[in-house]
Amino acid sequence: MRMIIIYNSSVDKSPPYSLIMSRAKIRSYVTKQKVNTLGALQRIMSNFSPLMIAVAPNGARKTQVDHPALPLSPPEIATTATNCLNAGACMIHLHVRDENYNHSLDPERYKKAIAAIRSKVGENLIVQITTEAVGIYKPEEQVEVVKAVRPEAASIALRELCPNQKYEKQAGLFFEWMYKNGVSPQYILYDKNDIRRFNHYRQTGLIPGDNVSILLVLGRYSLDQQSDPNNLYPLLEDIDPNHKWWLCAFGKTESKCMNEAIKLNGHCRVGFENNTILPNGDTAVSNHQLVQEVAKQARALNRPIADADNARELMGIK
Ligand SMILES: [Zn+2]
Repeated sequence: MRMIIIYNSSVDKSPPYSLIMSRAKIRSYVTKQKVNTLGALQRIMSNFSPLMIAVAPNGARKTQVDHPALPLSPPEIATTATNCLNAGACMIHLHVRDENYNHSLDPERYKKAIAAIRSKVGENLIVQITTEAVGIYKPEEQVEVVKAVRPEAASIALRELCPNQKYEKQAGLFFEWMYKNGVSPQYILYDKNDIRRFNHYRQTGLIPGDNVSILLVLGRYSLDQQSDPNNLYPLLEDIDPNHKWWLCAFGKTESKCMNEAIKLNGHCRVGFENNTILPNGDTAVSNHQLVQEVAKQARALNRPIADADNARELMGIK
């Protein structure tokens, strides 16, 4: 029987608590939340590593027609960052736009946006830049932006930056560069094939480092871009338990999916990039309401919430 280890003792200073369950057992464990088991669930959660919550407030494609409070300019992004910090976020996943509000990987635009965020929140949020290609940028250009900006953290879709064997050498050099220069990578993995390739690159050393984090994505390629929380389990089967994994989920089931991640010792990324709908069906007024929802769920389950310093420790950011 395949097993999933859902607690990583190396990331928490609390007494070691190991919980090894079969996939079927986890499924029943997280779905049978009757009142008489909630206390037990809360005791387990309180021993989990602090929950890291990231906000992805804008993405590459949406506009203010999709939502009037989508933050696009540096001042708008900085205000969103402040509100999301206050709501419980420890990281912002950042996209910037050009003068026509189209997706951009221009280092100068990133530097301006980061400066605006830092002027409001100081070091109280990790700022992660996206390298998303959006069909415009080549892998070489994705690498260049990270080298030019030297951010604290960067997200990288493995299938974009290293689409096939031909790109392995240059991707490996870049992963090594990030490791040596203290840029915390988050590898975005969409399916089992991505996960298999990621595991292979970890084994061969192409992806170095002790603190590697992963972002699993639900719903990106599904019909109507809606996520099914049940699709998380098959992905987790192949994840090395030593890796910190985050979840983002497209569509109005975002909150439900986050609830699964909280209970399985994962970490959460929410925001208008993926969803604008609150669990009650209302449209969120702003990004920070989605962060508030996750924080509320974590508190209800007794899972501690990470601030930026906790998160830096968890992710090995110096
Ligand atoms: Zn993004």
